[in-house]
Amino acid sequence: MKRKIRMGMVGGGSGSFIGAVHRMAANLDGQVELVCGAFSSRPEVARQSGIDLFLPQDRVYTSFEEMVEKEAVLPEDKRMDFVSIVTPNHVHFEPAKLALEKGFHVVCEKPLCFSLEEAYALRKLVEQSDLEFCVTHTYTGYPMVKEARDLIKAGKLGKIRKVIVEYPQGWLSTNVEASGQTQASWRTDPKRSGMGGSVGDIGTHAENLAEYISGLKITELCADVSTMVEGRLLDDDANILLHFDNGAKGVLHCSQICAGEENDLNIRIYGEKGGIVWKQMEPNTLLVKMHEAPAQIYRTGGDRPYLGEGAQAHTRVPAGHPEGYLEAFANLYHNFARVLQAKLEGKQPDPQHQDYPTIYDGVRGMEFIVSVIKSSESQEKWFKFISEE
Ligand code: NAD
Repeated sequence: MKRKIRMGMVGGGSGSFIGAVHRMAANLDGQVELVCGAFSSRPEVARQSGIDLFLPQDRVYTSFEEMVEKEAVLPEDKRMDFVSIVTPNHVHFEPAKLALEKGFHVVCEKPLCFSLEEAYALRKLVEQSDLEFCVTHTYTGYPMVKEARDLIKAGKLGKIRKVIVEYPQGWLSTNVEASGQTQASWRTDPKRSGMGGSVGDIGTHAENLAEYISGLKITELCADVSTMVEGRLLDDDANILLHFDNGAKGVLHCSQICAGEENDLNIRIYGEKGGIVWKQMEPNTLLVKMHEAPAQIYRTGGDRPYLGEGAQAHTRVPAGHPEGYLEAFANLYHNFARVLQAKLEGKQPDPQHQDYPTIYDGVRGMEFIVSVIKSSESQEKWFKFISEE
C-alpha cells in the first residue's frame, strides 16, 4: 500500500520562519504531501496562508483543535497521517497532545515544549501509543554529522575525552524585540519561549549535537548564564562546563549576542587517538585529525566509498555538488516518512530510517534547559543533570 504520507501543519503561516523550511524539506523527496493546516492563530492569516499554498478550503482550519478533530473523522484514505508543529514554544504541547490522543503521528519543533512537566507528559503519551514522534534537531541530519558519529561509534578516535561545542549567533546583539520583530519578540518573552532564551533556542541544538555525535550523555554541568542586552527578559548568552557519563569533559557555549556572527554552530570532539571537527557553515567537510598524522579532509558525496553507511544514506548528489541546511532538514522528513510508510505496509522499518531525533531527544533538551538555568542560579559548582531516565 504505497502512497504519499499526508501532512497537516500547525503554524507556518505567512510571515513566519521555519514553517516554510519544513514544507520545503518535506517536499524534497516527494514522499510527503501537505493536505491541511491551521497556519496561524489569526483566522484571516490562517485562511490566506491556505489559499497561498493551494489547499482546498475545507482543509484549511482556523485552529489546531478544529484541524485535529475534523481530520480525525475523515475517511482513512483522506485524512492526514501526521501533524507538523512549527509554532512558538508555548504552542507545542497542546497540539502535540491532542494529535497523539487522536492517533496522529507528530513532527514537532524544538525545544519540545514550554516546561519539563509537559515534556514528561508527552513522553508518556508516546510510550502508551504506537505513534512516531520526531523532534526537529536539524543538525543531526547532515551526512558529515552521521560520519563523525559513526567514526566515534566504531572506536576510530579511541575513548572520548573532550567535547567542545559552540553555537554563536549575533542577531540579538541589540534590543530587536523592542521593534516588535516577530521572531525576536516571542523568543525573548518568558511566557512564550519558556525558561531559557538562547539556552532553549540554540543551546538545545548544541546539547543534542554533542550527545548525538559523541554517543555520550551529560551527567553534570556548571553554567554561567547571562542577559547582556539591557531590558531583555531572558538569557542571551551562556557558557557551560560539562561532565559526560564516560568521564569526558566538555564546554558548551551558546550566544545570540556575538555581534557579526551568523549561525556558526561548530563542534570538536577528541579521543585518545584523534579528533573530529565539523562546522555547520561548511557542512560538507569533516576534518579528521589523528594523533601524529596529517589531518584528513572527508567530503560528502554519494560516490565516496570511504564514507560510512550513515553518511552515504543521507547524501543525495555526487561529490562537489554542495548540500546544506534544507537537505539536512529533509533527511529528518525522509526518514520519518519512510518509517510511517513501513508501518502502513506492516513492515519492519529500515534501521537507517529510524535515525531521526525522537521524543527522548526532546525530553533531554527540556532537561538541559532546566539544568542549565538552575545551575546558573545555584552556588554549587557541579549541578547534577536533571533527568528522569
Ligand atoms: P515564527 O514566529 O516565525 O512563526 C510561528 C508561526 O506559528 C506563525 O505563523 C504564527 O502565526 C503561528 N502560530 C502561533 N500561535 C499559533 C496557534 N495557536 N495556532 C496556529 N498557529 C500559530 O516562529 P519560528 O521562528 O518559525 O519558530 C517556530 C518554532 O520553530 C519554534 O519552536 C522555534 O524554536 C523552532 N525553530 C527551529 C529551528 C530549527 O533549526 N529546527 C529553526 C527556527 C525555529
